[in-house]
Amino acid sequence: MQIGLPNVALLTTSLDVFDDWQGPAVLDERGGMQEGDVAAISDDMKYAHILIRETDVHHTIFLTNRCNSKCLMCSQPPTPQDDSWLINEACQVAVHMRASPALLGFSGGEPLLLGERLREVFDTFSQVHPSTELDVLSNGRLLADKHFSKELLSGLNKQISWMVPLYGHADFLHDFVVQSHGAFEETLAGLIHLHTHQQSIQIRTVLIRPVLEHLPALCEFIGKNLPFIREVALMACEPIGFALANREVSDIDLRDWRAELSAGIRTLERARIKVILMNAPLCALSPDLWKYAHKSISDWKRVFAPECAECSVQADCAGLFTWHFHREQAMKINRIKGITHV
Ligand code: SF4
Repeated sequence: MQIGLPNVALLTTSLDVFDDWQGPAVLDERGGMQEGDVAAISDDMKYAHILIRETDVHHTIFLTNRCNSKCLMCSQPPTPQDDSWLINEACQVAVHMRASPALLGFSGGEPLLLGERLREVFDTFSQVHPSTELDVLSNGRLLADKHFSKELLSGLNKQISWMVPLYGHADFLHDFVVQSHGAFEETLAGLIHLHTHQQSIQIRTVLIRPVLEHLPALCEFIGKNLPFIREVALMACEPIGFALANREVSDIDLRDWRAELSAGIRTLERARIKVILMNAPLCALSPDLWKYAHKSISDWKRVFAPECAECSVQADCAGLFTWHFHREQAMKINRIKGITHV
């Protein structure tokens, strides 16, 4: 007869202090774990995966790697396998986090593919961490279904911030970028339903070549047709995943697109829609756009080039993605001298 709890393992950075431990043990040899982190131990109890680091500033819960789009520059290409176990894992994370962070994001893949179980995730986090602001990175397409959007969004305990990509002012462009026929119409219907349910919306636009070619038209479209949007985030492309396979559209130097960026931002400002620029090194932007730039690249994937060493605005610069130097035609970096305030 076996007694005890067979699904309990010791997770520790040192076995020395537990020398009388009889059960399975997972040793964190690299010492990456800290008190307060939430970790999942593999079924064979050989390794542990840290799901939440209490000390991180940006907390993201990964809900699925499936997606109903196939964006040309997707940084994390989707996979078709059933990964619905991630839903239970997400709810377990909520229960085991001992501190409530100020902000927590849900991402995928496409979180709306969880269907009504996404509401279970929202409700669990809202109940256990009522003070935490929640945001969701979603293409919004499945919210075109009026019944589903009502089931998901009505009676929520709190307003959620939705970050929804829009890549063009017309279907030919948006559908091409996300490689899905009908996506433009679905995303617009989803945005309307989010607004109907008083959700906060940020439009996210990754700046690849076909998008930049029509950026002023997209900004005009947003200003005229989507005035309820809280904010537009214009984002430099992360050079990884499908972006590496589609270099002809993703490998661009923002310096070559300053006129389009300025025109688009001016249009959004005239429409009184807030704009931010993400992932863009300051030296790629004209100085009049620096005030829109955010230091948006997470610490763990941000680097600086040797040229940045004596740059006078480094402290305010988003820097570069770690994989920046994998690009064949990497964006050029120009040390800035003599300017200290952005
Ligand atoms: S030189 Fe480096 S630190 Fe300076 S603006 Fe360019 S990327 Fe940023």
